[in-house]
Amino acid sequence: MNKENTTNEFFTDWKYAAAPEGTEHIKLNKQYDLFINGKFVKPNSKKYYTTINPATEEKLAEVADANEKDVDLAVNAAKNAYDKVWKKMPAKERSKYIFRIARLMQERAREFTVIESMNGGKPIRESRDVDVPLAANHFFYYAGWADKLDYAFPNKKPQSLGVAGQIIPWNFPLLMAAWKIAPALATGNTVVLKPAETTPLTALKLAELIRDSGLPDGVVNIVTGFGKTGAAIVNHPKVNKVAFTGSTDVGKLIQKSIAGTNKKATLELGGKAANIIFDDAPIDQAVEGIVNGIFFNQGHVCCAGSRLFVQENVADIVISKLKQRLETLIVGNPLDKNTDIGAINSKEQLQKINEFIKIGIDEGAEMYQSSCSIPSKGFFCKPTLFLHTSQSHRIVQEEIFGPVLAIQTFRTIEEVIEKANNIPYGLSAGVWTDKGSKIFNLTSKLRAGVIWANTYNKFDPSSPFGGYKESGFGREGGLHGLMPYLSF
Ligand code: NAP
Ligand code: MG
Repeated sequence: MNKENTTNEFFTDWKYAAAPEGTEHIKLNKQYDLFINGKFVKPNSKKYYTTINPATEEKLAEVADANEKDVDLAVNAAKNAYDKVWKKMPAKERSKYIFRIARLMQERAREFTVIESMNGGKPIRESRDVDVPLAANHFFYYAGWADKLDYAFPNKKPQSLGVAGQIIPWNFPLLMAAWKIAPALATGNTVVLKPAETTPLTALKLAELIRDSGLPDGVVNIVTGFGKTGAAIVNHPKVNKVAFTGSTDVGKLIQKSIAGTNKKATLELGGKAANIIFDDAPIDQAVEGIVNGIFFNQGHVCCAGSRLFVQENVADIVISKLKQRLETLIVGNPLDKNTDIGAINSKEQLQKINEFIKIGIDEGAEMYQSSCSIPSKGFFCKPTLFLHTSQSHRIVQEEIFGPVLAIQTFRTIEEVIEKANNIPYGLSAGVWTDKGSKIFNLTSKLRAGVIWANTYNKFDPSSPFGGYKESGFGREGGLHGLMPYLSF
């Protein structure tokens, strides 16, 4: 048989040759201490925990588990650096340090990229093309603002706040650190940052980079640990501002614990975005946008397009193209440059996703999964669609934070706006249509902080990001992202 002339059989047999990124150049310590006052110091707790590679379940390093005393040392180092050095430094000098951090990050981009994929499970293509360049760009962008605050907020006399306590999740470990640290430094604040328990390694590499940059001691402190370490930062009396990205549940706890204090806060919480496809949309691009919206970073994206609304008269074609596309997605080794969907970040998260898949089936929705195989070791999940879902389904209302898409159809604009908004969250949305007027109509009526039109999951340091309702408050990025770190 002439294989070249057959179609399906040939293409389904055909596989990309593996193209794994090397890890020989990566130097990881066996054990990481806390970065306090410009040095790595042993934790008072004397405790360490193991951080793993979620794609192989292999141990990568031991990481310090900071207790309240450790957090106290870090906050005092930040306060001291604020009072004695950072607050007094001319803004244009602060700017040079931030710029230097950005340059060093670019120089070490490959190292950060590989570690991000090893510790977080995300495909190397994403850490290489999205996370690391965007993280560096945030430092570049905010370096530019540091000496222009009076122009950003004319006649308002912006003042720094003091010590910023910053707590970040595991889905964009380095990028979230950059989102938090860059504007804090540009506005003259000092920092205590806690990465998520499962993804501490790029934050610790960033600590090494910050030490090498010559940033004055104590301006940035990085403490690793679990939820209680985060709580100790939030509750510390010398912390003036809390910047949190994570789940809505923890966001609510934080809001309770700072009530009655004069701490400022920004909370970037969960989401359940509507991705809306009208019948006049460019269908092939929209299908790519749906795939990018929910399968990018394994669906570990608070703004993921996890609810799909397709106009009824194009639903069949969109869904059939989507199923075909699902079959071509490559699930597996995050370090392979061909991989589209990497590892789920942790065993717990995989369990949560699998529970939701079961809930979806039990609720009566029709499940469709790619027929791909997944590695036997590590935490992986096949890209999953749910058809015939309705507003009352839990898989439509609750955040799954995995590669699971709930699909509904609609007939009219009014119907889709109502359905899209009928949810506790309001972080982001996507609209696919040929008509500018429809886009403007929807952007004014959808209750979501970020709305993409004919694209999805695009980020830029100059555009603000943040939510409505239970997705939190405050904005990060852009000029807006400076405000939460200033008093006027
Ligand atoms: P999480 O459990 O809320 O954790 C976020 C961070 O807070 C982690 O560093 C965590 O430490 C820490 N933490 C846990 N309990 C705490 C407490 N009581 N006080 C202070 N800090 C505490 O969320 P996650 O499971 O890591 O991340 C997934 C969630 O984050 C999703 O719901 C997602 O939507 C949301 N998210 C939102 C955005 C956004 O921009 N809006 C971005 C990314 C993620 P541990 O790691 O030890 O738990
Ligand atoms: Mg957690």
